[in-house]
Amino acid sequence: MAKAKKVKQPVATVSFLESVSSNFDRAAAHTGLPKGLLAQIKACNSVYQMRFPVKIGKDYQVIEAYRVQHSHHRLPTKGGIRYSQKVHQEEVMALASLMTYKCAIVDVPFGGAKGGVKISPKEYSEHELQLITRRYTAELIRKNFIGPGIDVPAPDYGTGSREMAWILDTYVSFKGGEIDAAGCVTGKPVHQNGIQGRTEATGRGVFYGVREACSHKDDMEKLGLTPGLAGKRVAIQGFGNVGSYCAKIFQEEGDALITCIAEHDGAIYNEKGIDVPKLLKHFKKTGSILKFPGAKELPQRKKVLEIDCDILIPAALENQIRVDNAKRIKAKIVAEAANGPVTSEADAILRKKGIMVIPDMYINAGGVTVSYFEWLKNLSHMRFGRMEKRFDNQTYSNIVALVERLTGKTIGMKERDFLTRGADEVDLVRSGLEETMITAYNQIRAIKKRKRKVEDLRTAAFISALQKISSDYIALGIFP
Ligand code: GLU
Repeated sequence: MAKAKKVKQPVATVSFLESVSSNFDRAAAHTGLPKGLLAQIKACNSVYQMRFPVKIGKDYQVIEAYRVQHSHHRLPTKGGIRYSQKVHQEEVMALASLMTYKCAIVDVPFGGAKGGVKISPKEYSEHELQLITRRYTAELIRKNFIGPGIDVPAPDYGTGSREMAWILDTYVSFKGGEIDAAGCVTGKPVHQNGIQGRTEATGRGVFYGVREACSHKDDMEKLGLTPGLAGKRVAIQGFGNVGSYCAKIFQEEGDALITCIAEHDGAIYNEKGIDVPKLLKHFKKTGSILKFPGAKELPQRKKVLEIDCDILIPAALENQIRVDNAKRIKAKIVAEAANGPVTSEADAILRKKGIMVIPDMYINAGGVTVSYFEWLKNLSHMRFGRMEKRFDNQTYSNIVALVERLTGKTIGMKERDFLTRGADEVDLVRSGLEETMITAYNQIRAIKKRKRKVEDLRTAAFISALQKISSDYIALGIFP
């Protein structure tokens, strides 16, 4: 008799929304907040599912799309729009909930939202994408789901500044004369009411957050690491907007070694460190990170997650670290640059292994933080730095002149420029982002230290969010 073939058992895994829900419940148990209030915070307030026709080629296609507003405790609601064939209602709901907690953690005064259009952008021409984006925006306007004080979209997976410019233009053509119209969407091109530093913001925020986490000597000792980022081996899953800026900034400003990078078609590895600016050029030229001189290729792209490194940065999509691979993770720190890359089941395994997971709702909040700055810029109708730059420059020049006079010495032109420069918009944006990420990390860390039973940063981050959101509800007079 022929031997029975071994059937591969499917890996029991939780959905993204279930993961968010179970993480929420774990944290809620530590807050002592009333059940009803917790239930209100957890629920998605409005789910708008739409279907609309768009002419693609000679025929019409019916496009499936969503906008979910998770929480209205603060307005506007805020969150990106994802273009992906994998979009479905539950995913958008999970992403919208994360936006609420994310905004609270970094003190961005918005409720959470998210949009999704179920298309694979690569299959459409630029013109067709524009038609889809404009029609999606018109649907949002029709149902009052967009506006500077209502709901403010932004880029996410599969979208960028180009789509945001189309959204603004559509909004303006429907709402002529609305003085704050530019604030109806963020992540716009800089010359079209955008802000300097928005494109790099999520990656840069990840850098500031991880650098802050690594600066605490006692926490690093527990992981068997020395403090600081210099020389730490970093592996990154995803070389899109978030992953590529992470790689560049960790290398250039943190002196870290980027040892492994994965993209959709494969992964490359170099234990001495990959030269990121050169890789960016290679990627631009060939459309792939593969065949990069000096780097080895891994047999499977997913192996990036299991590589021996100090810091692992999943910067792609949700549900990447699951029960089937969590045991093989070797990194000491996992920084969730993507939303939901670790399932709640896998998270429990990583906790047992003593791995420090820096949660998505904190570590990737740089994007929405700078979106907030962009929105403020739009409402103020003025670029940051315009008022004070020359005044600061003059004041610093006076100080330098005084020091020169008192010491009888003169300084060189280069030093003078460095010392007397007034801040540009990008300097202020980076400064605001750095301050935001450092402050939020220390709030989360303090909660973890204070609550003996809280053993991980994710639970502490959730508690931080729940404390802030609940006090908003109480201030609104909705809950006693
Ligand atoms: N899509 C980004 C996120 O997941 C940015 C959202 C925004 O800027 O509103 O955080």
